[in-house]
Amino acid sequence: MFRRLSLIFTLIITSQLATAPVAQAIWNRDDVSVTNETYWYDNYIAETCSTSGGTSNNTEAAEATLSLTEFIDKYAQAAFTIGKQYGIPYEAIIAQAALESGYGRSLLTRQYNNFFGIKAGSNWTGDTVTLNTEEVINGQTVTVSAKFRAYPTAEAGFAGYGQFIHANSRYAAALNFPGDPAKYITAIFNAGYATDPNYVSKNISIQQAVIKYIKEKNLFPPSSTVTPDASIPSETTGTTASNCPSTSGQASAEIDWEHIYDDSTAIACADGTTDAGIHDGYHDGKLIKIRLCAIPNFPCSNQECNQFGDGHAVVNSRVSGALFKLITDAIAYRDSSANTWGNFDIAASSTFRSMAHQEYLWAKIGPPMAGRPGYSYHQTGLAIDFSFSSNTSAGMYKWLLANGEKYGFYELKNPREPWHWDVRGGV
Ligand SMILES: [Zn+2]
Repeated sequence: MFRRLSLIFTLIITSQLATAPVAQAIWNRDDVSVTNETYWYDNYIAETCSTSGGTSNNTEAAEATLSLTEFIDKYAQAAFTIGKQYGIPYEAIIAQAALESGYGRSLLTRQYNNFFGIKAGSNWTGDTVTLNTEEVINGQTVTVSAKFRAYPTAEAGFAGYGQFIHANSRYAAALNFPGDPAKYITAIFNAGYATDPNYVSKNISIQQAVIKYIKEKNLFPPSSTVTPDASIPSETTGTTASNCPSTSGQASAEIDWEHIYDDSTAIACADGTTDAGIHDGYHDGKLIKIRLCAIPNFPCSNQECNQFGDGHAVVNSRVSGALFKLITDAIAYRDSSANTWGNFDIAASSTFRSMAHQEYLWAKIGPPMAGRPGYSYHQTGLAIDFSFSSNTSAGMYKWLLANGEKYGFYELKNPREPWHWDVRGGV
């Protein structure tokens, strides 16, 4: 019978965690047996997984392990190598990696080779993955979204840790102890790496098991006898393939609602539409990279349509298939004998908008008719302003009223803009 010693890790997370570099707050659900104790590890929730930057297929998934010794067998070489390169005692690195990855079992580790829960700050230029995590804040379990670094291989993940420690001057004092894992981890803790008051004692207890096992198997010399390399390697980030569900491939006429506001750079434009490049999109005030696609049978007159779409509507690749089908079907109806509304224009006055354009409209028109910069659905490439303007007797408006929702597009009702259709659901 496996008993959980849940009192081992009682974490008190305060608001200061917001600036801490490490997500070490989530010790729940699963547990990992180490010697006689049970360590709880972070539970990253996969449902809101999204990546940015990754398009290659060279990601190797890290392997989860079931015990500390198995973890050492698999990853000690990577820890030893970067320990020597960066002047960090490898025993402490193994202990940190084992503890924070749940022996390689966390989603962040298995899929993105991030063993240390290192978040992607503004200086990070490599790939990222956004995951929801459960954290305990003031005694309440809450779900928060955080952007983490993503690495193509386990070795890159360990190297990323060395780079991270070196790049942050707050950890400079810890680098005075390349041969003393206990002093190193104490200095790391004192610099604010973790807020768990028992972080040092937990790490050191794992270190001791690491040291014992490595000595027994004669795997590596102790760090106290290892001379660090003269210079640290230059930073390499590599490219990480997206391992999130439904974040790559080609758009179809079916909208992937679950990921509608996620980075769409890995989504290829739907058949029949034309790639119009990767651009800065915004949703809910946050920058997201989006791939735009030009809809060839849908003329559009605004600056972005002219600049990126050769005079055609440009929309987020995630809705390129749905919009192309909508326009194609509307044209087919208009040109068919079933049409009782006479000939009508099928054109747009605005689709995707740049931040500069939205800021201009905000200054000129303001709310409610212009969306706040960073919040307009035009900025995610998920909205269309049709050229019939407020003419609700226009054939295209009548066609949209009868059919738009079937394709996933809804009229903006508040404020009412009959010309504006987007994916938000008609609110
Ligand atoms: Zn609009």
